[in-house]
Amino acid sequence: YRDLRVAVLGCGSVGSQVARLILEEGDELAARVGARLTLVGIAVRDLDAPREADLPRELFTTDADRLVLGADVVVELMGGIEPARSLIVRALEGGADVVTANKALIAAHGPELRAASEQVGAQLSYEAAVAGAIPIIRPLEWSLAGDRITRVMGIVNGSTNYILDRMDRFGDTAEDAMRVAAELGFLEADPTLDVEGYDAAQKATILASIAFHTEVPVDKVHREGIREITAEQIETAKHAGSVIKLLAVAERLAASDGTPGVSARVYPALISRDHPLAAVHEGKNAVFVEAEAAGELMFYGAGAGGVETASAVLGDLVSAARRHVVGGPGMLGSNHAALPILPVGEVTTAY
Ligand code: NDP
Repeated sequence: YRDLRVAVLGCGSVGSQVARLILEEGDELAARVGARLTLVGIAVRDLDAPREADLPRELFTTDADRLVLGADVVVELMGGIEPARSLIVRALEGGADVVTANKALIAAHGPELRAASEQVGAQLSYEAAVAGAIPIIRPLEWSLAGDRITRVMGIVNGSTNYILDRMDRFGDTAEDAMRVAAELGFLEADPTLDVEGYDAAQKATILASIAFHTEVPVDKVHREGIREITAEQIETAKHAGSVIKLLAVAERLAASDGTPGVSARVYPALISRDHPLAAVHEGKNAVFVEAEAAGELMFYGAGAGGVETASAVLGDLVSAARRHVVGGPGMLGSNHAALPILPVGEVTTAY
């Protein structure tokens, strides 16, 4: 086999699993790809920090800048905006394909990064950036590329779904449910990103941009979190045959004057108990898609977790590697049919 040089940036929950799987599944991946994925290095901040996987020490480096040079595929799993953004730009400019799980970065700089990759003919993929292990980016972008998507509704934040699910199923107060979620490690030390819907808004931006081939900036996503939800509201919803879920909704609709546009919003929505999204319990994620020809589709599974998310990252890695072997499609990207973004007004709020 020919060798493909793979650089992994970051060795936390996801990066350690990706590095382990590249090493452990090397032979099978080589046979599948037609090239050997050679892990040339793993960039970290602290060389001596304990790792979740047993990985050869000589692979670790603190020099991420140098590691990306000469790589065929760079896998960014550090998180945050900088230095991830600069490293990805540098990697693309150097001709490498890039795989990332970084939702914050793609939500904030997706258009610029996609443009950078298109300019050099490299592939930028980020299947893991929305809903962890669940294949959703590629289905929206490729499998449904010939259809017209009308609505995407996702339960894309596992922690808030866990909290709301506990309130619904066990009658917990919001405080109790949050305490349990924190004890089980489902909540960040600062839960604001999850509880106030910022994390879901980043994913709404990405989903809306892909589903509608347009650019939906994160500050155009209407955002309401779950902080104000009370046990009484959950009880009232229950009596009405509904459940409250924090949804990320991206919808193609017409403004009052008939102009087509896009609405993207995150808020605690009422969902009928008959709706498939009502059955998404605990920390799970799901994305419900409506398309004109395909009808209704639902994608369900683990929205987080190191090894689960590594599955989506490896899928992108295999796809990027295949491109080096046989050529193949890049991502379609956005901005091909810019639709205006409509404010939240008379849109449906219950499903
Ligand atoms: P972690 O915080 O567990 O790990 C981050 C890693 O990046 C650490 O190894 C850290 O090094 C390294 N790192 C951070 N900054 C730098 C830097 N400046 N230079 C070199 N190395 C650096 O993150 P996760 O694995 O949880 O997440 C990675 C990405 O995947 C994020 O973008 C996240 O949003 C995304 N994601 C995560 C999911 C999950 O379930 N965890 C699910 C879906 C997406 P060191 O260890 O030395 O500090």
